[in-house]
Amino acid sequence: MKYIIIFILIITTMNAFELKQWTKNIEKLSDEEKHVIVNKGTERPFVGKYTNEKSRGIYTCKVCDAPLFDSSDKFDSNCGWPSFDDAIKGAVKRVPDADGRRVEIVCANCGGHLGHVFEGEGFTSKDTRHCVNSISLNLTKKPDAKDEKLSYAYFAGGCFWGVEYYLEKLDGVKEVISGFMGGHVKNPSYYEVVRSNTGHLEAVEVVYDASKISYEKIARTFFEIHDPTQINGQGPDIGEQYLSAAFVNSDKERETIKKLIAELEANGYRVATKILKKVEFYRADESHQNYYDKKGSKPYCHGYTKRFK
Ligand SMILES: [Zn+2]
Repeated sequence: MKYIIIFILIITTMNAFELKQWTKNIEKLSDEEKHVIVNKGTERPFVGKYTNEKSRGIYTCKVCDAPLFDSSDKFDSNCGWPSFDDAIKGAVKRVPDADGRRVEIVCANCGGHLGHVFEGEGFTSKDTRHCVNSISLNLTKKPDAKDEKLSYAYFAGGCFWGVEYYLEKLDGVKEVISGFMGGHVKNPSYYEVVRSNTGHLEAVEVVYDASKISYEKIARTFFEIHDPTQINGQGPDIGEQYLSAAFVNSDKERETIKKLIAELEANGYRVATKILKKVEFYRADESHQNYYDKKGSKPYCHGYTKRFK
């Protein structure tokens, strides 16, 4: 028993010591921040600043600025708090929670309370959910740096997992990102779009090297890997978020799409694909990127069909 008491004393002193170094920073915290970070409270679910945050960047500790989580590890758990399936190496310390059941997570640098970690829930392949209070964090956004040497094209052709899968295989295409376009909500979540009330289409951003592949070649492939004649969705996915569209960046792209649609119509297809002006592209969270490669499976509603002569 004596040893246990000494052990508890050491632990308590250590925690106090860790935070003591940061007294000045802690004094600057609001009462709400202190309640969570120092007194290990929990913010209310679904109201935290970063619960649905999609920006790319690094989440740092509110007290000591240590980098804690990378946005690429953030996923939609729908639990009401920001969720990460990994932390920056060595940045987050696990300690048994005072409740004797859960595992608490604290900033390894200053000891500030972050939240809890859960395993075995099956959300992502890492099977880990760091459930973090937004109020314990700051976000340093990385600019969505566009490489001047590369070009960007935007298409919607049903479930973005399949469109991404096929367009990514083209030579000269550097990257295809799954996301949302055309709705009336900023930074929509996957669940919001799937519930079909944001007006967004599931879309992809194709990042390509125009010296290696043309916009026309990508657009041709787009028309041959999804059914451009389906008017109510794509394959089994029915709803406005699955409609077929090309979001054009310029008159030249518009003319290219018009030309390709005319070719298809000459081949007997009644094309439902809309030509829309390029609008803001919202990247979907990491769990939707490279979906089929991560799962090791093939798309269920996309495939190649030759439609051009
Ligand atoms: Zn810290």
